[in-house]
Amino acid sequence: MKLATFRRGGVHPDDMKRLSKDRKLERLPMPEELIVSMSQHLGAPATLVKKKGDPVARGEVIGTASGYISADVHSPADGVIAEIRRVRVQSGAVADAAVIKCSPEQSDPWTEKHDWQKMPKEDLLELVRSMGIVGMGGATFPTSVKLTVPMGRSVEALVINGVECEPYLTSDYRLMVERPDEVLEGIMVAAAIVDPGRIILAIEANKMDAVELLSRKASEHGYPISVMPLKVKYPQGDEKQLLKATIGREVPSGKLPLDVGAVVCNLGTCNALYEAAVYHKPLIERVITVSGESIVEPKNIIAPIGTKFSDLIAYCKGEKDDAVSLVAGGPMMGFDVYDDGTPMVKGSGGLLSLPELVDDFSAPCVLCGKCVQHCPMGLMPNRMFRNIKYGNYQAAIDLGLMDCKECGCCAYTCPSHLPLVQGFKLGKKMGRKKK
Ligand code: SF4
Ligand code: SF4
Repeated sequence: MKLATFRRGGVHPDDMKRLSKDRKLERLPMPEELIVSMSQHLGAPATLVKKKGDPVARGEVIGTASGYISADVHSPADGVIAEIRRVRVQSGAVADAAVIKCSPEQSDPWTEKHDWQKMPKEDLLELVRSMGIVGMGGATFPTSVKLTVPMGRSVEALVINGVECEPYLTSDYRLMVERPDEVLEGIMVAAAIVDPGRIILAIEANKMDAVELLSRKASEHGYPISVMPLKVKYPQGDEKQLLKATIGREVPSGKLPLDVGAVVCNLGTCNALYEAAVYHKPLIERVITVSGESIVEPKNIIAPIGTKFSDLIAYCKGEKDDAVSLVAGGPMMGFDVYDDGTPMVKGSGGLLSLPELVDDFSAPCVLCGKCVQHCPMGLMPNRMFRNIKYGNYQAAIDLGLMDCKECGCCAYTCPSHLPLVQGFKLGKKMGRKKK
């Protein structure tokens, strides 16, 4: 069978999923302390509405959205606010955080099922907003905003991103094979809001067991979801590449999927939508893959938001002696972490302990052109990087810097190991500042 994919650029790194693919979901016992940042989403940080000494209940709002592009933050545990402090999260953002001392006994207020099918779609959308759901593939865009279809517009295709193309990560895979009914119902919640012409669930062909299981389950439930296996290729999980692979549409520069009639929703987000619609459970926990060659026991863990990375590593029996680098997210787009006390946020899908530094040396550009050949956005990374290096930010922007997805394909193929993506992040920041 010929499988679809995007055409321009991309790379084929070893997917390394074998380390954790067969590790069933395990629930982390509630840690003694959680650090819950108000900056867990794209947009303005939430406003902390609790103070030191306040008791908090599991699922209670502790931070309120401070703008349209923002999201509420809920307490992942019963306990008391031991401290308020400024905390840096994996993306580098620094914001207020509530340090929660967790009670030894935790409540479970989400046992009663609700009939979301009877809800008008405006109420369903408001429910999604009030549950603090954001895109869980890493982008953390508030889901209620993403699912808001402006008047006069329509959605031709709802595309669910079950691709999980970053090497090592298996959290979405485990959700698909262990909670197929729940994620499919979550997809139908999204569909009830955006009312699409068709629904496609895209999964890469290195997870054919999930393709088969979800196809069968979708047809048993009578859901109009078409499960589409895609050729394995990085960065297929990026919205623009995913839409090219699934519906053959190109999202123009500066435009959104909705501009080509599509809404893209991550699979982990659909699990959160299920829990929100059926149990009215806010986004207070998520699945995270803890893996890498230097982790003693790789696992897929359901952990409360705010769990320190050190607690996750300890639960996986620690790191081996050769551990050198800790990465939050996948190796292609993740962030180096220098403090294992950094807390999980809503977008934390992976934590990797690796035996070598990702960018340990760099040499001058040899003009090989590999970065240009593999850039899925059709950019010239070598020229953009040279301009940024010499402070010519505007020239880099004119070359399309703002369209760069920071996917890392250029850096992956660069024989000189140039820190291209770090350069592009810096260039974007400096370019915005200058403006
Ligand atoms: S990081 Fe940016 S420049 Fe490099 S390949 Fe990806 S989109 Fe292209
Ligand atoms: S891949 Fe690296 S060495 Fe080759 S042209 Fe691009 S920046 Fe230069």
